[in-house]
Amino acid sequence: MASSSLQLFSLPPPSPVQKHRPSSSVIKCISTSPSPSSALSTNGSTPLPNSILSSPPINFSAKYVPFTSIATGSPTSECYSLDEIVYRSRSGGLLDVQHDMEALKQFDGEYWKALFDSRVGKTTWPYGSGVWSKKEWVLPEIDDDDIVSAFEGNSNLFWAERFGKKFVGMNDLWVKHCGISHTGSFKDLGMTVLVSQVNRLRKMNRPLVGVGCASTGDTSAALSAYCAAANIPSIVFLPANKISMAQLVQPIANGAFVLSIDTDFDGCMKLIREVTSELPIYLANSLNSLRLEGQKTAAIEILQQFDWEVPDWVIIPGGNLGNIYAFYKGFKMCQELGLVDRIPRLVCAQAANANPLYLYYKSGWNQYQPIKADATFASAIQIGDPVSIDRAVYALKNSDGIVEEATEEELMDAMAMADSTGMFICPHTGVALTALIKLRERGIIGPNERTVVVSTAHGLKFTQAKIDYHSKNIPGLACGLANPPVEVKDDLGKVMDVLKNYLDRRSS
Ligand SMILES: *Cc1c(COP(=O)(O)O)cnc(C)c1O
Repeated sequence: MASSSLQLFSLPPPSPVQKHRPSSSVIKCISTSPSPSSALSTNGSTPLPNSILSSPPINFSAKYVPFTSIATGSPTSECYSLDEIVYRSRSGGLLDVQHDMEALKQFDGEYWKALFDSRVGKTTWPYGSGVWSKKEWVLPEIDDDDIVSAFEGNSNLFWAERFGKKFVGMNDLWVKHCGISHTGSFKDLGMTVLVSQVNRLRKMNRPLVGVGCASTGDTSAALSAYCAAANIPSIVFLPANKISMAQLVQPIANGAFVLSIDTDFDGCMKLIREVTSELPIYLANSLNSLRLEGQKTAAIEILQQFDWEVPDWVIIPGGNLGNIYAFYKGFKMCQELGLVDRIPRLVCAQAANANPLYLYYKSGWNQYQPIKADATFASAIQIGDPVSIDRAVYALKNSDGIVEEATEEELMDAMAMADSTGMFICPHTGVALTALIKLRERGIIGPNERTVVVSTAHGLKFTQAKIDYHSKNIPGLACGLANPPVEVKDDLGKVMDVLKNYLDRRSS
């Protein structure tokens, strides 16, 4: 392992990255639409044209600042350009991307809504992406030509009518299918931003031989796909035997350099941090705050899909805890910039086998302790020492948030319930649905409150877990909703017997 990984770093200097943008998608922005100044002066009555509004002629900007200065609201002189390669503040804390809010505030909420709405579903590069349709709020200074995108985002906000009525007595329940995406998880939303920025840095001749991450599966899949699209080497550290076959095969197929390491995610994370401090490999874990800028657009998208009406609750499964903060940030930005007047209450849902945030919450935010996470079917959140713990606590405290947990039996049953109503969700979404069920049972979420459950990955990545469940092949689990196939001989009489028996059971 060691010798072959060394070879990788003697690669020739990076060749200029080829423009991967199909020329047919180069459509100039049409500016028959109201100019920003007229949009401002119409004060909320901006007409919605059919064409894409032109982007505002103002220099927006963003920079890294220490997360603590955001959390405490205290000003700081410590800041870094996004073109610097820096992951932590001087004191070793997390960083956060801070936008020039004063510049953004020169345009009112109606202007931003009209601009974002005008871009949905178009092919105009790069705005057809759900992430880059919010470019001014994401990476305002990047050149469109440097963006690496698979037109991620714009995912289905599914009205879970039958699940809502049948299992939780709700009519206004929605599932945001972030996993119906390029590589099958919401990680695409963040990775398009991170890899675009790396692409820009390499074009600026910054000495980056590649991008690396530790992963519970989905991060490495997204990283390898976006890097492959831009011809950037990717290196992934995976915990051996702890991720699904589908997740493992994705980086392999996309040509990443895959190290399968005899440890868990937390062990891989520790190693990659040490490696990236020694070698010019860009660190792609969610310690890196660039990814959260892309992930926050899923929150903005939810508001947009509800015609800028704010749901009451949003439930998000959490592991390393970057995404819960990303959602908070997306909602908060919409409030600060006048697109909406409040934000939803957030619920973070953890697997009981990997629940350090839940335990912290239960202690009244008094006692925090990283734990050793046990195996869970929700393998992408099997994390005992979450990097973004401070970000998550901040998000929850500022959204009147709640933390819930789900046992293996609960999350697998919830997944089976959802699947039985026509969805095909991943175990992490089962964790979030369990939180919903519990909060409904306790009466905390009301029957008429509009609730969004965030589905984080595609169910097809987790077929083995579903097969085990439906074969009742999981020690210690009743698998009460298993629906195994019936084996029948090639004989019409036998087939008829089995069918009649089934139909009788259904009608009784
Ligand atoms: C990464 C991931 C999560 C957890 O997101 P965090 O930001 O680490 O909390 C949840 N579900 C899936 C499917 C994931 O890939």
